[in-house]
Amino acid sequence: MTHEPGTRPAVDRSTVEAILRDRFGFDSFRPGQRELVECILAGRDALGVMPTGAGKSICYQLPALALHAEGGSPCTTLVVSPLVSLMNDQVMALVNAGIPAAYLNSQLSPSQQWEVLDRARAGAYALMYVAPERLSDPRFQAFAESAPVPLVAVDEAHCVSQWGQDFRPSYLGIADFIASLPKRPAVAAFTATATPRVADDIVRLLGLRDPLRVTTGFDRPNLRFEVEQLPDKRKLARIAALALERPADSGIVYCSTRKDTERVHEALVAAGVRATRYHAGLTPREREANQRAFVNDDAPVMVATNAFGMGIDKSNVRYVAHYNMPGSLEAYYQEAGRAGRDGEPAECLLLWSDPDIATCRFFIEQETGNEALSYEEQQVVRASQRRRLAAMTGYCMTTDCLRATILRYFGESVEQEAAQDGETGETPNHAGCGNCSNCEGSVDKVDVTITARSVMRCVHELRGRFGKSVVADVLCGSQSAKIREWGLDRKRTYNIVEDSSATVKEIIELLTAGEYLEISEGRYPLVGLGPRAREAATDEFRLYMKRKRKPEKSAKGARTDVKGAAKGAPAALETDEQRADAEGVPPYVVFSDAALRGMCTSLPRTDEEFLAVSGVGPVKLERYGKAFLSEISRAE
Ligand code: ADP
Ligand code: MG
Repeated sequence: MTHEPGTRPAVDRSTVEAILRDRFGFDSFRPGQRELVECILAGRDALGVMPTGAGKSICYQLPALALHAEGGSPCTTLVVSPLVSLMNDQVMALVNAGIPAAYLNSQLSPSQQWEVLDRARAGAYALMYVAPERLSDPRFQAFAESAPVPLVAVDEAHCVSQWGQDFRPSYLGIADFIASLPKRPAVAAFTATATPRVADDIVRLLGLRDPLRVTTGFDRPNLRFEVEQLPDKRKLARIAALALERPADSGIVYCSTRKDTERVHEALVAAGVRATRYHAGLTPREREANQRAFVNDDAPVMVATNAFGMGIDKSNVRYVAHYNMPGSLEAYYQEAGRAGRDGEPAECLLLWSDPDIATCRFFIEQETGNEALSYEEQQVVRASQRRRLAAMTGYCMTTDCLRATILRYFGESVEQEAAQDGETGETPNHAGCGNCSNCEGSVDKVDVTITARSVMRCVHELRGRFGKSVVADVLCGSQSAKIREWGLDRKRTYNIVEDSSATVKEIIELLTAGEYLEISEGRYPLVGLGPRAREAATDEFRLYMKRKRKPEKSAKGARTDVKGAAKGAPAALETDEQRADAEGVPPYVVFSDAALRGMCTSLPRTDEEFLAVSGVGPVKLERYGKAFLSEISRAE
């Protein structure tokens, strides 16, 4: 079967526009949509790489509708989609818009499945959504061989790639399925994952033929990016403050484990936030109910693992907060990108801690790997995961514009790139986007080049046989028995830096993020030289670190600035964390958002003043007054 581009009567422009207007209700195409629609209608393969929320669905739904209506015999576009929930939502939306569509999945009884197939054969549907597993089902194959299929659309196409973060082996069967069809349809693939490697995999593994590649800009100017390093024990307070600061807003909080998801969810609910949760440990029924509650704004805040969100079309998500650092910038940007799909301003807050990085390393090592891969291939996959982790930690630690860091990673040129500073890829802050925490001047940049050079020399001298702590101990001149026993106090790089051991460890992570160093995965991660180690020895080499700023606790600031006051709230709460813990109560149940704001604004000094704060009654004064008043007086 050969591909015959352009053999279809082209649907003209005005028809396409009429369909967009009359059937989908949109006045105009968004960037990339028209090219993709026209290309697909001309029978050519396509690959659409567009960020979450850009409107990829229309790119195949519109052609499907046009093809269905065109000519004498109606035909059905097949849409391969990875998740049942996603399929259901999309089909529901289409049917509501009067577009004939159906899905075929395990939620239907066998007889319902037969019915859908019969009706599809009769041309009832413009689109039929199927899970990739379905393609190898003989009954489905028999259908596909007998019914005309002009187009196969593959949604979330990065699932075919081992380099992506959502690899699904069943996606590898799509190419075989297409090859088994009597007449090769046009194949259109869509993804929000922008790395060239994944795109190449999609073309190769789906067998796309000379596809039109459309990549739209990845910048999402309405998203504000913020990164904050916080010890794990302070993260809950920060998330609660964020949710309470925006009580009317919908948000998503991503956690990396089910346990944290449960913890954060419980704390938010206790704090009076209408939150729900989603992770793989819940029953499908619970997951679906919770997802609906979120989408309907019955529970506007969703706390979830990364199992949640693919294909969720909720446009009014005002913030996405990450309780843990994800393993890659791909994953981060995709998840964060679920904020602000309506184009209105939205926040993307990433909290991270040192243990987050260690956890990601641990996952890379633990992953049993894919059995279809040889040992060597698995090593290659691991190496790539390590590189992606390095880029992710680089994002956390950079003093550069966060938006520019993301866009550069996805291979998009950034305007201020010309201003790049030597090998570090750092750009001066003044050239940044003005809408991220690094560009807003809340970051102090410290030149740590000299210490970084010492670290490089030390790792070289220790020949990569020790971990982060030992390297730091040597550089800082630790007197520990271990160091002396091993003779490390006789090394040339012993006791040559002035910085604290914590700072040195952070510099090691920073150097790892820049690939100057490499930290092996494993039970005892070792620090060795990375692929760019040589560059660190050049004169151009510079390394900058973020200086951690103490949270502002000035009384004046708190009185005049409401936002500042709200930010002060968690600090006051934190001191009470242990107390609340001991009582078995999450900290946020202690005082309402309004009460905390009140405290931050009025800064009470006496019991009377404390009582005067709205939300504080005699019982709470008795229980918490002392702790809070002392914390407030310390803060002043
Ligand atoms: P993606 O799959 O790329 O993440 P979707 O296809 O789910 O994005 O579309 C995101 C939102 O944008 C949806 O609410 C959709 O209705 C809307 N949308 C898509 N195309 C247009 C358009 N041309 N004009 C206005 N809104 C659009
Ligand atoms: Mg989509």
